[in-house]
Amino acid sequence: STPAAVTSGLARAARQGILIKGGAVLEQLGAVRQVAFDKTGTLTEGRPEVVDLVALNGSSENLLAMAAAVEQGSRHPLAQAVVRYAGQQAITIPVADDLEANVGRGVSGRVNGNEVSVGSPAHLAELIDANANTHIARLEEQGCTVVGVACDGQLLGVLAIRDTLRSDAGDAVRALEQLGVQAIMLTGDNKRAAAAIAGELGIAYRAGLLPEGKVTEVQALQRQSPVAMVGDGINDAPALKMADVGIAMGKGTDVALETADAALTHERVQDLASMIDLSRATLNIVR
Ligand code: ADP
Ligand code: MG
Repeated sequence: STPAAVTSGLARAARQGILIKGGAVLEQLGAVRQVAFDKTGTLTEGRPEVVDLVALNGSSENLLAMAAAVEQGSRHPLAQAVVRYAGQQAITIPVADDLEANVGRGVSGRVNGNEVSVGSPAHLAELIDANANTHIARLEEQGCTVVGVACDGQLLGVLAIRDTLRSDAGDAVRALEQLGVQAIMLTGDNKRAAAAIAGELGIAYRAGLLPEGKVTEVQALQRQSPVAMVGDGINDAPALKMADVGIAMGKGTDVALETADAALTHERVQDLASMIDLSRATLNIVR
């Protein structure tokens, strides 16, 4: 049977906005010495906005319409930014079918008989020439996530999207450091934008990671000490599973929430340090 201290520890955690799926998880949390954070939607608010757009072939309107059409089917924060922006610009969004999500890379679909894909510059590399590349580099250096929009093998243009750091992200990192726990950011986003965000927080980062890449990074960290992974997306699910403790953001995707051992129900990354602290205190009582 579960010791009373563990039961009350779980209840206290729940009151503080942390859902922990069982006493074993509470125990593992106390041993965690490293926390790997996803970037988009975890360290950042996950409500990115389109801040710039460069049409390279055809009009801005067509670029936006095509992009929004395939992004309509996606729950990715970047997708929602594109659809919202198209709405703000009063663009009529065409219907797309054969929608496919390529996790960590982008989405594609058929619009008016054309093959449209929206995704990371790395994913669309073969369509990006020197001119497009100059625009992409410039926008990424400003801390933007740039996504390319392609139609029938031609790059229509790029969208620059920017997200805000969560207000408690810095405090979360420092509170963890106080507990002797190191933070690192794992992201599928580009290196330039990742460096800008990680630099603000003063933490290490690995960029350009596909879902399996996040798993490999978690494994590498695990060779040193136990690792918790915090994430919100489908792209984080494999890494959440691999980590000693997988933690989902409260408004994360169902897949992340199902896979995780715990959830930050109020979406406060800062709660993580109190959770680890509580776990250590509870273990001391039990032992
Ligand atoms: P993160 O690790 O920061 O949460 P993801 O792994 O979800 O990022 O995505 C990695 C990259 O893949 C994004 O920066 C973007 O370039 C591309 N991408 C993923 N999903 C989409 C989408 N729905 N629309 C456009 N680009 C996408
Ligand atoms: Mg994310």
